[in-house]
Amino acid sequence: MSEHQTGILVVEDEQEIRRFIRQTLERAGYRVFEAATLRQALDDVVARRPEFVVLDLGLPDGDGTDFVRAVRDWSRMPVLILSARSDEANKITALDAGADDYLTKPFSVGELLARVRALLRRAEAGSGAGAAQVRFGEVEVDLARRTVTRGGEAVHLTALEYRLLVVLLANAGKVMTHRQLLREVWGAAYVDSTHYLRIYVGHLRQKLEADPTQPAHLRTEIGVGYRFQL
Ligand code: CA
Repeated sequence: MSEHQTGILVVEDEQEIRRFIRQTLERAGYRVFEAATLRQALDDVVARRPEFVVLDLGLPDGDGTDFVRAVRDWSRMPVLILSARSDEANKITALDAGADDYLTKPFSVGELLARVRALLRRAEAGSGAGAAQVRFGEVEVDLARRTVTRGGEAVHLTALEYRLLVVLLANAGKVMTHRQLLREVWGAAYVDSTHYLRIYVGHLRQKLEADPTQPAHLRTEIGVGYRFQL
């Protein structure tokens, strides 16, 4: 009897890192495919049908972002990008293009497996939609009735604050870039208005976090965006 093994495609041109990732994932029970170039990755994603991709951004024949764009045309499979510190701008472009999360090199076995598990769980649960009520800390959000309470007391949110909260909740656990949040909440004309986001996230923290200076749920991803942690 063979249990289903989740297939993971590892796209990385540095052999040592690729081997490290392969061994880590295989020990954890995943089935691993390897690609060392963008070209091979694009072939393998069709031929091998992986359910998850670990993607280095700096590849010899192109940028991992091109892979993300190509795959997002037809698949929602989770893509975890690996970025070197020098890839900062590329990392954000790849996340904007639809990559789900990132790890900065060097990373540990524990970090890699935690990210893989979290993204697979998200993928399995669907995109977070479905539940009419979401609870975190003392807060309860009733998405059907559009109400928010904290410790049983009604919390007043403005229309924009509420919309920002709903987008963050729908993407709980996933990093959302500034541009993604601005586009979804304010609209395409506002993708560079990062200061709006800072102000409104600040309001939400004041209203919903136990300690707004040490937010447990509305987390900042420095230089990238925000992540809502349930
Ligand atoms: Ca590389």
